[in-house]
Amino acid sequence: MLDKRAILHVPHTEMFALKPIDAWVKTFSEDRFSRTVPTEVVLPGVGLGGPSFQSEVHPYPAYLEPPKDAGGKYTRPFNLLPDWIQQCRATKQDMVIWAFMNPVYAFLAGDHTRVVDQHGITLDNNMCIANQLIQRMTDVFIDEIAAMGVDGFVFDLTDIYPQSGSNMLAKGTQNTCFCPFCLDALESEGFHEGAELFVGATNPFRLVLRVDSDGIAHIPIDLDWPAAHLVKMSIARGFVTDGDEKLQQDAETLMSYVRARSRVVAQAIRRLGQRAREQQKRVAVILGDAQLDLTTMGEMKTIQRYEAADEFWAPQVDRKYVLQQKVNVCAYLWARGTYSVNAFFETFEQADTILALQGVNVFLERLLARSKRLLGNSLTPGNVFSVKMADEFQGFVGIPLGQTDHAELVNILSKRATGQILPPEVLEAFRITNPGG
Ligand SMILES: [Zn+2]
Repeated sequence: MLDKRAILHVPHTEMFALKPIDAWVKTFSEDRFSRTVPTEVVLPGVGLGGPSFQSEVHPYPAYLEPPKDAGGKYTRPFNLLPDWIQQCRATKQDMVIWAFMNPVYAFLAGDHTRVVDQHGITLDNNMCIANQLIQRMTDVFIDEIAAMGVDGFVFDLTDIYPQSGSNMLAKGTQNTCFCPFCLDALESEGFHEGAELFVGATNPFRLVLRVDSDGIAHIPIDLDWPAAHLVKMSIARGFVTDGDEKLQQDAETLMSYVRARSRVVAQAIRRLGQRAREQQKRVAVILGDAQLDLTTMGEMKTIQRYEAADEFWAPQVDRKYVLQQKVNVCAYLWARGTYSVNAFFETFEQADTILALQGVNVFLERLLARSKRLLGNSLTPGNVFSVKMADEFQGFVGIPLGQTDHAELVNILSKRATGQILPPEVLEAFRITNPGG
């Protein structure tokens, strides 16, 4: 069996509230996770709450500061990302280091950079990567982080274009993005219908999105599917019922939209990583699915065709395609990539707002619901072994977050958010993640 790449991912700065980077390196190698010493580490660069360093664009989140003494001085020196990079290299001289970028940049609050749905409503926590301001802001971040000596940049694409239910709508889903930049780009890719087509109960997205009581169900799309096959899939999966005469026509519209959209997304990603490539840094992207994922609105084959990324980290791939095209792929050992991990940490980012508007109980309920989704962690020795045997993968990526660490994180972070210590019986409910103890 060949030596393969073993990539430790620290997806959020809050993981350092629990333990330092050298301790995460050790946890990754433990018997319950990978039994492998990491060859590469991914550190949080720019997250939902902001950059993890002193940036020209925006300050780092205040919780990253150590406490101050009576004289107003910090109780210990700290330099955040540059420190973590140094600490990684101290564990292993030739450690390859990546900066993790979540380009939805939730910390920005401007309507002019947000994604826009088909009704013209902007979404609070998602900026649009097709927006030229977001692209130029990313250039600044990349210059700043490249100067710290990282080897590459990883862009998280798992939730860049949300498609969701909303209590602002009588029926149907919010689809993104129809901002002026996206509308222009869609036009140039041959989709001239605009946003109006997606308003109301006859929205073609009903073929692939269904609002359920506990969330939204979706069907990932293969861009090669004929429209008739999409209709068949949708009926079989219970998203639409047979006998609707408009189905075939709507499926054709939807397929032509998602094909144009996937090209728009691929071009936006290529632009996002441009400054990194100019400085000979590698660009990787994280995807949640092998097919067109409806919260990415893009997929591997189109991104590869546009040469928008050097490599892909995804939980599943089209093996034949990867081998034929010699695509650089690592297996992301967590269901849907970072999608549920981001949602978990996002609860803490939004803690102040949730607590102020809805109270502690709603905060804890949401935290528990999102903690349950952490069951998707598949960083286990057996999975690592199978990736090492599989010829389509160069290596694997994993987050060594087990149930004890998860419960401890919930404890530390909720105490900070609510000012209260969680009673043992509440904390016990959070002991639900897999694997490890
Ligand atoms: Zn847009």
